[in-house]
Amino acid sequence: MSQKGVRMDTAQLDGIRIGRRHLRFDPITDDDATIAAHLEQLSVPALIASVVGITGDPSLLRTAIRPREFIQNEFQGKMTPAELAELRRRALAGVTAWRDAGCPQPRDPSPELIRETMEWINAGPVPDDYAALYAEEMDLAGANPRAIGLAGDAVIPPGFSVLIIGLGEAGLLAALRLQEAGIAFEIIEKNDDVGGTWYENSYPGCRVDVASHFYSYSFTHADQFSDYYARQPELHRYFRTLMDEFGIGEHVHWGHEVTRAEWDEDAGRWTVTATAADGTRLTRSATVVFAGVGFLNRPLIPDLPGLERFAGPVFHAAQWDHDVDLTGARVALVGAGASGFQIGPAIVDDVAALTVFQRTPQWMAPNPRYHAAVGDGEHWAMRHLPGYSRWYRFMLMLQSSDKMLDLVRADENWPDFPRTANAASAARREVFVNWITDQLGEDPALMAKVTPNYPPMAKRMLQDNGSWLRCLRRDHVELVTDPILGIDETGILTESGHHDTDVIVLATGFRASEMLWPMDIIGRDGVSIADWWDGKPAAYNGISVPGFPNFFIFSGPGTGLAHAGSVMFMTECQMRYAGAALQTLIEGGHRSIEPSEAAYHRYRDRLQTEISALMWGHPSIEHSWYKAADGNVYVLSPWRSVDYWTMTGAVDPDDHVLNGAHR
Ligand SMILES: Cc1cc2nc3c(=O)[nH]c(=O)nc-3n(C[C@H](O)[C@H](O)[C@H](O)COP(=O)(O)OP(=O)(O)OC[C@H]3O[C@@H](n4cnc5c(N)ncnc54)[C@H](O)[C@@H]3O)c2cc1C
Repeated sequence: MSQKGVRMDTAQLDGIRIGRRHLRFDPITDDDATIAAHLEQLSVPALIASVVGITGDPSLLRTAIRPREFIQNEFQGKMTPAELAELRRRALAGVTAWRDAGCPQPRDPSPELIRETMEWINAGPVPDDYAALYAEEMDLAGANPRAIGLAGDAVIPPGFSVLIIGLGEAGLLAALRLQEAGIAFEIIEKNDDVGGTWYENSYPGCRVDVASHFYSYSFTHADQFSDYYARQPELHRYFRTLMDEFGIGEHVHWGHEVTRAEWDEDAGRWTVTATAADGTRLTRSATVVFAGVGFLNRPLIPDLPGLERFAGPVFHAAQWDHDVDLTGARVALVGAGASGFQIGPAIVDDVAALTVFQRTPQWMAPNPRYHAAVGDGEHWAMRHLPGYSRWYRFMLMLQSSDKMLDLVRADENWPDFPRTANAASAARREVFVNWITDQLGEDPALMAKVTPNYPPMAKRMLQDNGSWLRCLRRDHVELVTDPILGIDETGILTESGHHDTDVIVLATGFRASEMLWPMDIIGRDGVSIADWWDGKPAAYNGISVPGFPNFFIFSGPGTGLAHAGSVMFMTECQMRYAGAALQTLIEGGHRSIEPSEAAYHRYRDRLQTEISALMWGHPSIEHSWYKAADGNVYVLSPWRSVDYWTMTGAVDPDDHVLNGAHR
């Protein structure tokens, strides 16, 4: 367990720095024909960006052949086949010349060249704030800009330590950053393994639905994923490998669930209590607590009358019972949201009958890459072409950042409101309806059941390659849309009748709005965070709360993403802010930091005002996990990613209260 009170020296730190691993490449030894074959499979805009970086020569960006338009899920800039062929030919010359020169390390690109490349790919201007965000995210110079920036001569007070609750992606990120900065930390994790979401959700078909080359830490090498949207076992492996590589595991108390954390004002420390399955208690003390418990970690078991009477196996998707063999079984899948949508197609070939119980249909965005494997050419480029994977990440980020936010802006004067939210929403609806019609045109009954009557993006959007509707059209599959009335020993009763079943799978989501539940978090003067929130969770920057000094929440209130983007990007933002807060504490010699009540209320009110302008909380939206029991939305971020990144970049001294000197 790390209990160091002073900072490690530079030599010690070198082994654990995050460094330039995202820029590593293997020299090319292939012949021209092999390289040319690989280039055929690449995104030409990302390829050209890479070659410009390798050569330092921007002339490839300054010819008449250039991307025409940048749109979602299209990676060739809408250029013609002839234009793409010509650019590939020019790129081949650049790549082979670089190979012949022995693949020298490219020089760090200038900010001007990076900006010019961004705008070339985007086929238009990139605003200053976004350009700064993307440049930091790509980190083409390997400057590691998101490290905790402690001054070289900063001395960490003896006894200063951070306790991380939870080792999902957020907890792991925090551990890596603390270790890199030489700050002592330990972790308490209720599971026996790393990964959180990507450890627990082992259900068939589980995969990410944000592209993996963006849903991954910005500082890791990109060539780790077999699929564009990695499957759960591979994602879990990704986190496990990182944990092992950096020796994070030795800092973890595995199999202990934190039940309580209490701030001791006199000591300026938190006391954290955890319990193991066998009842063993663990008590730890720390200067700072990072809560990385996730917001989709506590399964929501629905209150279905008679569920306990069912004679067969019943389990939640996040607690999949792998001992239950579904082969030849009649399976009831309750829930057709993000998990149900992945489970159905994955089990349909094995089961004798599948009955899907759906409360509301989901919008699906057509995405040909959703189940596709990363091609050989792209693996090759990510391994051998410096910058290729960074520019591919840039493209993913560019397409998923904030363009969707306007689709959910509520325009009450819009004639079709609230079926669609505004003109852009109506246009998007048409695209998505066409996607359904193309698959189901001759089946109007099913079409009616699977077509939402609310605006696109107002509830969780799904990525789709057609597998869901293919599944629903199978002869042994039934989609039931009338409400569940009750459950008995042999099945599920709805108005349409009794549905006999052998196994019930609950794909019913999580207790998302009950932030930090069921832990007792007790701040100054014995106030519990649950009482302070009173069912309306909020946090300054989604991270910190007045009266709870030195306490930082990851994936906290107001940080969930509903307009695309990656939660991992958000947690990297949160870690920047938490790191800056630690820096303020350590360098300033303060005991504690927290947001002022005024800043907290200002932030919360601004966020709620923004949320109320969007469709997510509109009364017409039913059965949405975005909404809390009172019908309001507390979990989501209404901000543009660039705004959240800006807010979390530094600790604003005017918004914070710093208490006393460190003891
Ligand atoms: C099925 C599924 C698919 C998803 N797909 C996407 C996606 O495509 N894109 C996206 O951006 N996001 C997605 N998400 C959201 C996902 O939860 C986040 O992306 C991310 O994994 C959250 O990481 P985290 O570390 O904050 O929380 P988690 O991954 O939930 O990890 C929390 C950790 O804390 C531990 N813990 C909790 N309470 C305690 C306690 N009291 N004591 C000790 N340990 C505790 C848990 O055991 C767990 O290990 C998905 C979520 C689910 C459930």
